[in-house]
Amino acid sequence: MSLDRRLHEESDGFEAAALFMAGEPGCAERTLAAHRREENGSTCAGCRRSPEHPCFLAKVALRALELLAAESTTRGARL
Ligand SMILES: [Zn+2]
Repeated sequence: MSLDRRLHEESDGFEAAALFMAGEPGCAERTLAAHRREENGSTCAGCRRSPEHPCFLAKVALRALELLAAESTTRGARL
């Protein structure tokens, strides 16, 4: 099933956010670049308020990259 199709059928908010991010080229990479670990080692440089890292958005971005990697593997296998 395509990521776009899964987005429309996904009821879990976290997974839906990851699918949405996976569908936007470069979005997960940009999010991870902004929401990196701060030099103090625990908080997020992007949200600052997040008490720990990875923050929610960084977790969504990591999941989006996982989905993209899985999809490209599947697509590669089909070719
Ligand atoms: Zn963050």
